[in-house]
Amino acid sequence: MGPSLRRPFLETFLGAPSDEGEWVLHFHCYLLRDSRDHVTLVDTGVGPVGSPASSWAPVPGRLREELAALGVRPADVDTVIFTHMHSDHYSGTVVDGEPVFANARHVIQRAEPNPLAEQLRDLLHLVEGDAEVAPGVWVRHTPGHTPGHQIVETGGFTMAGDVLHHPVQLADPTIRYVYDDDSDLAAKTRLDLVARLRAERRLLATAHFPEPFVQL
Ligand SMILES: [Zn+2]
Ligand SMILES: [Zn+2]
Repeated sequence: MGPSLRRPFLETFLGAPSDEGEWVLHFHCYLLRDSRDHVTLVDTGVGPVGSPASSWAPVPGRLREELAALGVRPADVDTVIFTHMHSDHYSGTVVDGEPVFANARHVIQRAEPNPLAEQLRDLLHLVEGDAEVAPGVWVRHTPGHTPGHQIVETGGFTMAGDVLHHPVQLADPTIRYVYDDDSDLAAKTRLDLVARLRAERRLLATAHFPEPFVQL
């Protein structure tokens, strides 16, 4: 952790009232398929009209249509991974009281508060720290934005969830986001992750950037 972390918040707090201009948030989920047809979904997006995210996010989301366009039925999904339990990342999970991905294990860090615990019950798969949760697919605990935030990695590819919200945080990872639970820890996690992604020249897949993929 360097001295730049102590930079005053007001200059650098994404989403603070002093910000000028409009910042349009995009919402991305990711589908992973391996050669053995194991299907993994990372986050379930903003969900339909009336979903938990609908009070603030642009519903309806297009997840089910996008999956159908790829020939993937909800019942085909083997594993759902939640980067964290903010409503724009889980609102496509339970619709009309029923789990949408009824055959999937739903992976969440034990440290993460879980508003879907009652609805998902036996489908839940709690992990602590780093774990391989599907063939070749790893979650890594990256706390700060939320206590149980996790990123997902497979091959040379990293889905960073809400460790990053805006491309400017790649230029300067000390720039903070107002809705990080633990701002100092989130900044440290972001600095460490961006440094490692650069060192390993990984392909970054973002949750909220206008362009989903960034080659580092
Ligand atoms: Zn979030
Ligand atoms: Zn988010």
